[in-house]
Amino acid sequence: MIPATRPEALAALEAFVDGPVRSYARLRNFIDPGHRDVSRLSAAISHRLVGEAEVVRAVLAVHKPATVEKFLQEVAWRSYWKGWLEARPGVWRDFADAPPSANPRASALCAASSGCEAMDAFARELVSTGYLHNHARMWWASFWIHRHNLPWREGARFFLDHLLDADAASNTLSWRWVAGLQTSGKTYLVRRSNLEAYWPDVPLEGLEALSGEPTLVPPPDTADRTVRPLDDYPRTPGTEPAVLLVHEEDLSVECALPQSFTPGAVILWRTPPRSAVRAAWLERAVAETRIRLQAAFGQEPQAASDLPSLIKCVESQSARRIVMAAPCVGPVRDALQPFLGWCATSEIPVTAVRRRWDAQVFPFAKSGFFPFWNAVRPQLEDLCR
Ligand SMILES: Cc1cc2nc3c(=O)[nH]c(=O)nc-3n(C[C@H](O)[C@H](O)[C@H](O)COP(=O)(O)OP(=O)(O)OC[C@H]3O[C@@H](n4cnc5c(N)ncnc54)[C@H](O)[C@@H]3O)c2cc1C
Repeated sequence: MIPATRPEALAALEAFVDGPVRSYARLRNFIDPGHRDVSRLSAAISHRLVGEAEVVRAVLAVHKPATVEKFLQEVAWRSYWKGWLEARPGVWRDFADAPPSANPRASALCAASSGCEAMDAFARELVSTGYLHNHARMWWASFWIHRHNLPWREGARFFLDHLLDADAASNTLSWRWVAGLQTSGKTYLVRRSNLEAYWPDVPLEGLEALSGEPTLVPPPDTADRTVRPLDDYPRTPGTEPAVLLVHEEDLSVECALPQSFTPGAVILWRTPPRSAVRAAWLERAVAETRIRLQAAFGQEPQAASDLPSLIKCVESQSARRIVMAAPCVGPVRDALQPFLGWCATSEIPVTAVRRRWDAQVFPFAKSGFFPFWNAVRPQLEDLCR
């Protein structure tokens, strides 16, 4: 159901552009068991099996912007959140460094034993498929925070561990938004009436847990929201001999590099999977990426999954420079830090390349989404050229 390879993602994109995108604005909020009204491309986009620019280009090749504006906006939301977090890494640290806490009620919700069958069905779906519809994510996060008074970071961690599209920015900032931390004065309360309106077959057992209007008090915001300037990454890899380091945030990096770029070696590096379903999905994604990289660069990529094996791969090469896609604020960048430290002490230069889409849109993520959208919207055709 969720595309796990670049050919699958491109086929899913084509099918979506041919059909469901036309009715996306009208139907996207409804819960359909097969999720046929939405693209289900988020895992492919999060790992860049397809890029945002490719998605927008495919849609605009067939449709006038005004008829698919809602879908284009949703793709832009992803970039907005990423650009916003990129400039405020303290907000990620506030989430990532918080110690986990054991709470039996939290465990019951994650184990699909809350007693509210609708919410338990979502917990089961998340764990067994790695996907949840956007409305389900909003409802479940609100159920956790506002109906059960549970700590938002614990719920966000549950999502991050299981979602195939797990993304530091979209996940952390959406949870913060539901909690009432992201947009001052705005909290999101899940209501029975909303589920009944958007889910024709909503299970009724325990649905009364979503009735009533509790007073919503946002938790204290402990995040450092200081804005730091965006890193000035190059957009091309340079011409000195280099080893290409491919990581799971950009599994089609070969599409973003100039054709003249020929690495001395290719290393495919992965972080430890956080759930069995995610591990199986990533296994397929990486296997197909390996074939693509081999076709693009004419050599078998080496695999590395921890710091010692990564260092060993680099040390076995004559090229003394690393090229990689610039990782955004989040777990991949965190996991790469020890390696980047080793490169610095070993005097191995690292060229982190930023895709044109990210480089051009991230600077607009200064305040709210709509100023961002108003700045990005007129440039979309150019951005996806
Ligand atoms: C609590 C919560 C946690 C979330 N965690 C993540 C996450 O970890 N990773 C993630 O990719 N998205 C996350 N989202 C956003 C959104 O729910 C998913 O991107 C979307 O449901 C994916 O399904 P789709 O590909 O069928 O989306 P579609 O509706 O087909 O949208 C197309 C694309 O636009 C982007 N998009 C759509 N809606 C949003 C949104 N609200 N915010 C940001 N980007 C969006 C995605 O890349 C998506 O693939 C979260 C939302 C909430 C409320």
